[in-house]
Amino acid sequence: MLIARSTQEAHLYMDLHACACGAEGFESEHRLDERDGVLVAVYEGVCPRCGRARSFEFRLIDELPPAPPAFGGPEPSRIIDPGEFLWVSDQVATDSGLRLLRTPPAERHAQREGSAFALAAVEEVLKFLPRGVDSVPGELFTSERGRAEHDRAPHRFERAALLENVARKRRVLEGAGRTAPHQGA
Ligand SMILES: [Zn+2]
Repeated sequence: MLIARSTQEAHLYMDLHACACGAEGFESEHRLDERDGVLVAVYEGVCPRCGRARSFEFRLIDELPPAPPAFGGPEPSRIIDPGEFLWVSDQVATDSGLRLLRTPPAERHAQREGSAFALAAVEEVLKFLPRGVDSVPGELFTSERGRAEHDRAPHRFERAALLENVARKRRVLEGAGRTAPHQGA
């Protein structure tokens, strides 16, 4: 069974796994089941495009889940690979982070959320780096999308590049925090 460290991680996993027809996302009913003393989060719904039944089940780990936008504690994800996390971060960052500082205050809140999400996703990639190793090992890329990301730009999964990526995203967020309040007309 899929093991999720948080609700955020379960949702991202579902976003990354489109319906067989290609449609992403579905209206899901969410419930918690207990099976043999283990808490299981069940999401069920119907694909809005083709009508297929969609369902996902996640076992929730015992640790207290992290506050959003973090996806988990210090342990790496067991259901989303490092390439998928970097891909997600890129998707969100192009839309939000880089434009953050040039955006009117009213629109900043959503962008700030996007930037924080992008930062959290890159931080997840770092959790896959074994101590003393300079690059995320190739065998940890287990999804098709993740492997494609790694093949396309393996240098982006080197420790130095990941730390630089995190630092850049933190600067954007901090800059936004400094300039956002009290912007009178
Ligand atoms: Zn479908």
